[in-house]
Amino acid sequence: MAIKAEYIWIDGTEPTARLRSKTKIVDSTKNLPIWGFDGSSTSQAPGKASDCVLKPVFQCPDPIRGGDSILVMSEVLLTDMTPHVTNTRALLSPIADKFAAQEPLFGIEQEYTFFKEGRPHGFPVRGFPAPQGFYYCGVGADEVFGRDVVESHLDACLTAGLGISGINAEVMPGQWEFQVGPLSPLDVSDQLWVARWLLYRIAEDFGIAATLDPKPVSGDWNGAGAHTNFSTKAMRESYDPIIAACEALGKNAAEHVAQYGSDIELRLTGSHETAPWNEFNYGVSDRGASVRIPWQVEVDKKGYIEDRRPNANMDPYVVTRLITNTCCSALA
Ligand code: ADP
Ligand code: MN
Ligand code: MN
Ligand code: MN
Repeated sequence: MAIKAEYIWIDGTEPTARLRSKTKIVDSTKNLPIWGFDGSSTSQAPGKASDCVLKPVFQCPDPIRGGDSILVMSEVLLTDMTPHVTNTRALLSPIADKFAAQEPLFGIEQEYTFFKEGRPHGFPVRGFPAPQGFYYCGVGADEVFGRDVVESHLDACLTAGLGISGINAEVMPGQWEFQVGPLSPLDVSDQLWVARWLLYRIAEDFGIAATLDPKPVSGDWNGAGAHTNFSTKAMRESYDPIIAACEALGKNAAEHVAQYGSDIELRLTGSHETAPWNEFNYGVSDRGASVRIPWQVEVDKKGYIEDRRPNANMDPYVVTRLITNTCCSALA
């Protein structure tokens, strides 16, 4: 049987990596083979030694091609089968194993912006649309732009079996969010990357480009983030570990922020529902805090915390590794 397998991987573009993919015809969806690509075309290898290896790590039904077709999230290896320097999943894997007994879970809110004809979808040809205020969770043709793409993406994620947990329109025209999780560190990261690929791929058919740019329009417009919600088994059962996790994040704030996505200082300004990038605080219900404890969590005295700092363009393999390592070390 001839089955289309779309191998997806993360390239070497700096400062923010991009997704690449290509199709392999396979005769079974079980025991998928390793594959290769030209690393000299993806900023991952010199031309004289250009071969890089693709190793499948996660697969799901391909909702676009349908039938037996599959999507195959892959990690990049060197030809000696060691991880490529761009392979951030290889760094997460041992940390996820080390702290698996604490059962860390993540729910990631992926914000993004649609662009059409060189400007945010819904922006007029000249000047700016009405200021922020009615776009967030809005309804109606004067407030909402791109819902057809968003609905198509949601259906695709569900058909693929991804752990998508919701969508909403955001505060700027053409800006949206989807959430993936709660899932384990490796699962949420693999599935977020596949959900991003599906977003780009589906928007392509509508003649629209989706971007994870953290500050797509300067001025009085919110940037795009990737709020990262986190809990361990202990945090889901009592309140002291919730506070201990917040305190641990505070002690490692600079190290985290430096790896939470390029241009983070443009987004974490201290206004637009953010805390300044070079300060740390946490608080109940506080959307101006670095880390928010949801009000329900304080009432229930258990649950999860929301790290509001990660940028939309963050690498979930990096962010979930840092949070798992910092919080689970403190809670051990
Ligand atoms: P916000 O109010 O900040 O917009 P969202 O509803 O967009 O919040 O996202 C909250 C995310 O938190 C969801 O992805 C949800 O699955 C996740 N979540 C809920 N409970 C937990 C938990 N115990 N641990 C980790 N993530 C969780
Ligand atoms: Mn949200
Ligand atoms: Mn949001
Ligand atoms: Mn949030």
